[in-house]
Amino acid sequence: MALLPFTRPSIDEATIAGVAEVLRSGWITSGPQVKAFEAALSRHCGGREVRAFCSGTAALEVGLRLAGIGAGDEVITTPLSWVATANVVLEVGARPVFVDVDPRTRNIDLALADAAVTPVTRALIPVDLAGLPVDRDALDELARRRGLRVVEDAAQSFGARWRGRPIGASGDFVAFSFHANKNITTGEGGALVLPDPALAPACEKLRLQGVARSGEDGMEVDVLGGKWNLTDIAARIGLGQLERLAEFTARRRALARLYFQCWDRALGCELPVEDFENANWHMFQVVLPPHASRARFIARMRELGIAVGVHYPAMHLFALYRARGWREGQFPHAERIGRAIVTLPLFPAMHDDDVERVCAAARQALA
Ligand SMILES: *Cc1c(COP(=O)(O)O)cnc(C)c1O
Repeated sequence: MALLPFTRPSIDEATIAGVAEVLRSGWITSGPQVKAFEAALSRHCGGREVRAFCSGTAALEVGLRLAGIGAGDEVITTPLSWVATANVVLEVGARPVFVDVDPRTRNIDLALADAAVTPVTRALIPVDLAGLPVDRDALDELARRRGLRVVEDAAQSFGARWRGRPIGASGDFVAFSFHANKNITTGEGGALVLPDPALAPACEKLRLQGVARSGEDGMEVDVLGGKWNLTDIAARIGLGQLERLAEFTARRRALARLYFQCWDRALGCELPVEDFENANWHMFQVVLPPHASRARFIARMRELGIAVGVHYPAMHLFALYRARGWREGQFPHAERIGRAIVTLPLFPAMHDDDVERVCAAARQALA
């Protein structure tokens, strides 16, 4: 039997035909497709200004720069995320300050974030791990009370909701990723939701070499920008994906429900929060019991035809961050979860009996 991947994008024939049209059109880098994709993203985000990027990482970095974060500033975030979350803080010359996660949600513990605020703390980067939103009411309250900017790392929560509204429709800066593994994809890509439409020109400058154009032939550069634009080829994929967002999210939720029904609780794994209102079920992750070897579990599952992912080891223990003073023992929940968490297969094209297969294999692998 073919290996069941832990994720796989669903690209339909209409999208493939649309990409072929873009390729034949004579305009393949940022152009009309990017504009149309940004407009569609804006409609999804309650009419807020959105700009497309070549990656979620670039969107996060520009969000920080537009928020004025730089040298001497501290930015509070979670150690349990993709390393991009903290790398962008280093990129803008600021200092990432980690606080532990809530072991139930696996997201940043906002009470600890509150306690970690210092006179030089300028911003928070919350991460919606696996697509389970951080409590936006508590987040907004904390940011307002402490006078902090927020750059939401919503790379995994596109299509998730808070109080019935899509993530991205409210808040300060919100960054999405459209990497191949995310809930909608452009191959590689991302987007930044702006808190104020007046920031759009500055955002566009930072996205492309700091260049501002005027009139027929005017050009000025007054700030150092990146090379972070999205191509029309990628944007056309995104437009095809966005049309199917509701369908994708509904299917992911249905598969997650099946996991809760089929999973053998006697195995002693920690299951995710059973949220069918807000979460977009970007991933279905379980934390293995203390006695289980994760490496053996992954190998055994592969023998049984099932691919398992690891998202993520606690990032403060990477050499890059250890060299900046972070050490083992500082964040016991993130460290324990980071050592024992596994991502089980979950993607829209998966069949119901695939979930049953995964649950049966896990029973065998943990026996
Ligand atoms: C994917 C991801 C990113 C980075 O997105 P890219 O598009 O790969 O640059 C950042 N943070 C989190 C939590 C992610 O999952």
